[in-house]
Amino acid sequence: MIWNDEPREPDNRLQGTSQGKRTDFPPKEWIRSELEQVGALDTGKNWNPNLTGKLHPFFDRRHWPSISTRRFDALEQSFQISTRLLKVAGPYLCNFLPDPKFNGKWIKRLEVNDSRSFQEINAANTALLDIVDHLQWRESPDITPKDGFLGLNHYGPEVKHNNLHGDDTHEFNQAARRAKRDGLRHRQLTISITSQFVDSLLAAKKGSHAYMVAAFAAAITIVHELGHTIFLHDIR
Ligand SMILES: [Zn+2]
Repeated sequence: MIWNDEPREPDNRLQGTSQGKRTDFPPKEWIRSELEQVGALDTGKNWNPNLTGKLHPFFDRRHWPSISTRRFDALEQSFQISTRLLKVAGPYLCNFLPDPKFNGKWIKRLEVNDSRSFQEINAANTALLDIVDHLQWRESPDITPKDGFLGLNHYGPEVKHNNLHGDDTHEFNQAARRAKRDGLRHRQLTISITSQFVDSLLAAKKGSHAYMVAAFAAAITIVHELGHTIFLHDIR
């Protein structure tokens, strides 16, 4: 194996910033003033966030029962980006949907194969739509990056608390039992995303750097949480 762990001098532009000293560990968080200094933020460029098209059913209003229309609409560009990410992820989703053959209870080994036929991708999308029917979304001011979370899956059609830490096995099992009792095909899940995304989208000028970062970060979080859902929906 070959790798290069030689410490390298930073790019000239980073000199004089906290990222730029070879002997330092860079701080975990980027510092806003430094990002501006190296021209990575607030460059003055105005973007034109104008994605349109049919959204994934995941983003139907009925799956977002508790959010106001104004705040729901603020997420439009994030939903557009998420819809495109889900489309691109089609072949990869086929490794998980429809459910891979279980060896006993758990998958022993997952063979990732990214060259998939049109039929396979269709089958994965159909399975995903069925899972989506058991989901709802909400935004939550209690979930913040400070706690290390931007989004969270909850086990059930309503949220009792933001169980960020601790053992939630009981709720996980309870949600499966309830789904079976109610004749559902999947565990009902609620996905929270941090309200900070919506706050930022509403506060920023549309097309500004801050707006674009918020729209993209929200989309990444949304698709990330959907990834969890694909593993959590199963009640067998
Ligand atoms: Zn996660």
